[in-house]
Amino acid sequence: MLVYKFGGASIQNEERFKNSAQIIIDCKDTLLVVVSAMGKTTNALEKVAHAYFADNTNEALALFADIKKQHIEFAESVLKTQQANSLLLDFFTEVEWLLHDKPVRHFNYYYDQIVCCGELMSSTILNAYLVENGEKSNWLDVRDVIKTDDTFRDAMVNLELTKKLMHENVAPVLANGKIITQGFIGATDDNETTTLGREGSDYSAAMFANLLDAKSLTIWKDVVAVMNADPRKFKDAVAIPQLNYYEVIEMAYYGAQIIHPKTIKPLQNKKIPLYVKSFLDPSLAGTTIHDLVLKSLPPMIIQKAEQVLLHIHSKDYAFVEGEPAERLRELFNKHKVKSNLSQHTAISLLCCFDDQPEKIDALSSDVAVMFDVTMQRGLSLLTVRHYNDELIQTLLTGSKIVLEQRTPQTVQFLLSPA
Ligand code: ASP
Ligand code: MG
Repeated sequence: MLVYKFGGASIQNEERFKNSAQIIIDCKDTLLVVVSAMGKTTNALEKVAHAYFADNTNEALALFADIKKQHIEFAESVLKTQQANSLLLDFFTEVEWLLHDKPVRHFNYYYDQIVCCGELMSSTILNAYLVENGEKSNWLDVRDVIKTDDTFRDAMVNLELTKKLMHENVAPVLANGKIITQGFIGATDDNETTTLGREGSDYSAAMFANLLDAKSLTIWKDVVAVMNADPRKFKDAVAIPQLNYYEVIEMAYYGAQIIHPKTIKPLQNKKIPLYVKSFLDPSLAGTTIHDLVLKSLPPMIIQKAEQVLLHIHSKDYAFVEGEPAERLRELFNKHKVKSNLSQHTAISLLCCFDDQPEKIDALSSDVAVMFDVTMQRGLSLLTVRHYNDELIQTLLTGSKIVLEQRTPQTVQFLLSPA
């Protein structure tokens, strides 16, 4: 069997939606398809969750009404026979009921109950379209098979239970036709909806591939292949036909937006190849990621904007290593931030983070209880794997180096405008 994953961009308008559906129809193998929410639906649903939690019920309802209208209109435009409204009604009702109650639990719980609606709607419309077009296609509520803990917004999958449920509920259906299901979401044992973290659909797809022993996973994207740099910024960017798991997990770790960093492990563990292909032109070869020794790779350029550097100094000349460093790590975990680059000196620690201002300000005031803290905002992080000096000189033109770190394979520069 094969697993396909379609992201939000691949189903964001009528033309792309039908084109993606055709790719599914053209697949003659046993197939399970994981889809994301359409276009920017998840961002729009996040706004609903925030308005609801801030007690702005009317605003939340109005924002949700827009999303509802958009999906009904879209379903009406692509479907011939189905009543778009009745098809999606259950999902609407569930969210609207919740929006009429006052919040009494943690924000993250409500977030998951609201945001899950995006994938439920997109997969329902896609399945209905396939059925109308003669496919033997089945809609699967992924919450019946992907079981997680109750860390809402960042749930951990219970692999044992999920594996058992997949074998009981997915494998028999696949023998009879295709399956269309949702990425990004799961459920607790008590059937409360959870989500796996933003952009988590790739990970869901990899989990299906692993647990069902798929022959391969194909992620359909709006790029011709994995490139060595962002083609919108680098006109010399080149497509890379073959990559191995190791290179991809490293690139994803440093911030390359190819696939979600958690996607590789389930594939690597069973040596399942990952194809990254263009939904705009399926005839293109794309990139194959598998278990292979790579002889030479072009330099891989990864840029991350909006970085902040925290200079954390001990207040009394005590070393930062040891106990104080432990304490800092606890604070990073508490605020759910991960440093992208860090450097120790005897009595200080420099740490660079994605600048999510609310989180970073809260972190910084917690850190300030024990340490002197200063913050430097407006930075960017440049990572180059398989670098050469000439390329680096060019890339650094017009920037000032704030921090630098080098291994034989990878160089990283934290930069400010010169
Ligand atoms: N729809 C979710 C998001 O936008 C999950 C995904 O796209 O992978 O984050
Ligand atoms: Mg997405």
